[in-house]
Parts: sequence; structure tokens; C-alpha cells
Amino acid sequence: MASETLGGTAALKDLRDGFTGEVITPDGPAYDEARTIFNAMIDRRPSAIAQCETPEDIAKALRFGRDLDLEIAVRGGGHSVAGMSLTDGGLVIDLRRMSAVVVDPGARTAEVAGGATMSHLDRAGEPYGLATTGGRVSTTGVGGFTLGGGAGWLDRKYGLICDNLLSVHLVTSDGNAVRASEDENPELFWALHGGGGNFGVATSFSFRLHPLPTVTAMMLLWPADAGRDVTRAYRDFLESAPDEVGGGLIFLTGPPEEFVPEHMVGQLVCMALVTYAGGEAEAREVARPMLGLGHAGEMIVELPYAELQCMLDDPPGCRNYWSAEHLDSFPDEAVDLFCARASDMIVPSPSQHVLFPQGGATARMNPDFPIPWRRAPWVAHPFGLWEDPADDERARRWAHDIRADLQPWSSGAVYLNFIGYEGEERVIAGFGPENYRRLAAVKAEYDPDNVFRLNHNIKPAPAA
Ligand code: FAD
Repeated sequence: MASETLGGTAALKDLRDGFTGEVITPDGPAYDEARTIFNAMIDRRPSAIAQCETPEDIAKALRFGRDLDLEIAVRGGGHSVAGMSLTDGGLVIDLRRMSAVVVDPGARTAEVAGGATMSHLDRAGEPYGLATTGGRVSTTGVGGFTLGGGAGWLDRKYGLICDNLLSVHLVTSDGNAVRASEDENPELFWALHGGGGNFGVATSFSFRLHPLPTVTAMMLLWPADAGRDVTRAYRDFLESAPDEVGGGLIFLTGPPEEFVPEHMVGQLVCMALVTYAGGEAEAREVARPMLGLGHAGEMIVELPYAELQCMLDDPPGCRNYWSAEHLDSFPDEAVDLFCARASDMIVPSPSQHVLFPQGGATARMNPDFPIPWRRAPWVAHPFGLWEDPADDERARRWAHDIRADLQPWSSGAVYLNFIGYEGEERVIAGFGPENYRRLAAVKAEYDPDNVFRLNHNIKPAPAA
């Protein structure tokens, strides 16, 4: 149904009647803001955006969408690079008004509403010195992040965020409320550890928190031409580093910050970001191999975790393309290829040519979850952000070239939150073929009509 014909229909009036939140249509003043997501390349015009405030709103919106046969998108933080939280002509179930977080400091848990961002969660834990693994920025939605797995600065110490998930409340495709935990609907709970938004709209998550009064961040900078030596040293350092160490090796445009030498501002630079789940003195001791390399600029700071989380927030409004290759090993030959591709990145721009370490608790915990990529020790993650549409093809090619170069060391698995839509084979690689079959059976039980298909889609298994 075209957006022009939806306004004023009886169905729309019924939806608005008793709806706690707000239903926004193309003729409303808030429409353009409401359909804006992180990736500025995605320009889609839904027929209606249901900004829900309660699980009942969600059930009502679902019924409306299904009755009118509208394509249904579910929006959390709006950070999916492929724009999976927006639809052209369909209905968006927008969860941003559902952002409450309640921390129980005694039990060390947090109850987080389905549309909260990482910032909501991090800030709620801060007064108690409690935290759990979040994404590496504060603006990501807890929903999409968690349901995909959830990797961040703390994952080597505390595992992925999905390793800290205690239960989820969902509204399923038929409008029913369901709770999933280890002892309630356990197969669904298993599927929610990486299976994304395929099984329903998550209205709240319960997480385990950890005492974390302080963290340390070290940003050490070199000119890009020192990148190969720095990357080798970083790899060797991480391979025997304690679980408290996180971070990444990042080629980026030197930002206009005090710690960046003037001649490096606006130029391609290499940064070793060492995060440490603890205080500065300990962090300096542990990071001695990196600190002794002779860097050109540094910022070393001890701060609350919630501050670290927003330190590297990316600017919204850019065009985006990212991909990822998970590596079983990262020998010198791979280092050289990885570093050489840094010079293909668009500079100056907010793009980042990233190498993330995994290992630690990420590799040790919950091997049965449907996310085989967790076992790879390294992830190459070209993260392209730029402004000029004329650079679109260049940015895509850069990401694809890195993947092609690193194929000999690829684990074959991929973290789906780190890529856009790259075809069905890559979706299956995100879970592994056996897990995919098991997930498809869960999908058939909870969403047999594939209502929730704007995601890394798991097709419902055919009826036996
Ligand atoms: P949305 O676009 O709103 O949603 C993404 C998908 O999840 C959609 O299919 C949507 O339907 C579904 N979804 C969202 N909320 C719910 C819900 N409550 N119930 C059911 N389905 C839902 N990932 C990491 O692991 N680590 C990082 O450090 C990291 N850094 C990032 C930095 C930036 C700047 C960006 C843009 C992304 C980053 N990501 C990272 C990737 C991020 O985790 C994924 O893009 C994730 O899907 C975003 O979730 P969202 O809720 O913000 O996105």
C-alpha cells in the first residue's frame, strides 16, 4: 500500500486509538527525523513509523502491519550498516522511546528496555562501578548489538555481551509475549545468542554486570609508514596479553587533537589503542612492550568505563560501508598485506582500517552458541565512513580488496553485525551450517511466516 493512501485510513485510526506512543506518517513534521538512521546512504520512506512505548504498542503495530501486508522493520539504535531497521513503503516498529535501564547493584544485574542505547546502559551502571561488555561506541542500540553477539573493549575479560545475557522478553510475530532464559524456552534463548532480530521484538534484556570502577585507555600514534613494525609488535603483544587488555590496531586520519603532532593531523596515521580493565599504573606495566616502541604522540588516561565508551563515538550523517574477515592466524605476510591496504582508505575521512583482537574469554566461553566467529583470534574490519557519493565505489572496493588479500588466513566465519548484506552464503557463514539448520527450526516455531525478515535472515525450516 502506498504511503499516500495510508494516511487517514480506518486501519491507521484504529492503530492510533489507545496507542501509548506515537504513530508518525509522511505528512507529519517529525517524519524525516524519525526515518533517519546512522548510515546516510540509506534513504527509505516507510508508510508509518510506530514509535512504541509498551509491549502492547508493539503487538498492536505488528497486527496492523500484518493485516495490511506491510513489510515490517524493527528499529533499535538504527546502526545497521545495511539499513535493516528501515523499510520503503512498509511499517517501522521504532523502539527508541523504550530506553529505561534499571540496575540492581546487589544482584549485579541490569534490566534494559529493548530500544536503549549502550550509553543508557553504561551510564546506569556507572554510579555503582558496574559494567558489562558494550560496543566500542555509546550510540549503538543494545537490541541489535546484543542479538548479534556484541563485541567490545571488555570482551576478552567478560566475554561478549551475549555471554552476559540472563533473559529476554520478546513479542513474537503473532503478538504474544514470551520470555526466554536458560530454563524458560531454552532453545529460543540459545537462538537469541547471535540469531539477531529473527525471532521477535525484544522488549527487554536482563544482563549480568561486573564490578569495574575504572579503566585505562592508551592511544599511541605513529606515522603510517611505521605501521608494519607497529602492527607486528601489536600482534606479538596481544598474543600473550592478559584478558584485561582490549583495544585495536587502527589506521585512521590523524584527528585535530592535542595529543596528535601537528604534522600528523589530516594524514594517515597508525594508532595502537590499548584498553585495560583496571587502573593506569597496572596498565602501563602490562603495556610496556607497546610503550617502548617509540611512538610520536600519546594520550593515556584513566577514566570511568562509560567515558571510554563515548570517547570514540563516530559522527552520524556519513555514508557507510563496512566488512570483516575473521582470521585464524596473522603471520607477517598477512600483516604486510593488511598494512598495505591502509593507503587505499579515503583520507581525510572518519574511516578506520581496523584490526581487532579476540581471544581471552571470547574464545573460551560458550562454544555451543551459534557464533563460530568467536574462536578466531583476529578480525580485520574495514570500517568506511565518508561524505562524497563520488567515493562510494572506492570505499566498497577498499573493503573487498582487504577481504580478498586475507583469504588465505580466513576462518570462514563472520560476525554479522560487522557487515552489511553480503548474500545468503555469508549469513550461513555467520552461524555455521549446522547452527543455521537449528536456528531455522526455531524460526519456524516463532516466526513461520518470516515477518521479521529485515535482518541477516534465517529462513524458517519447511514444515516436516
Ligand atoms: P538497528 O539498525 O536498529 O538494528 C539492527 C538489526 O537488529 C535490525 O535487523 C533490527 O531489526 C534488529 N533489532 C534491533 N533492536 C531490536 C530489538 N529490540 N528486538 C528485535 N530486533 C532488534 N558491533 C559490535 O559488536 N561491536 C562494536 O564495537 C560495534 N561498533 C559499532 C560502531 C558503529 C559506529 C556502528 C554504526 C556499529 C557498530 N557495531 C558494533 C555494529 C552494531 O552492533 C550493529 O550494527 C547492530 O546491529 C546495531 O544495533 P542497533 O540496534 O543500533 O541497530
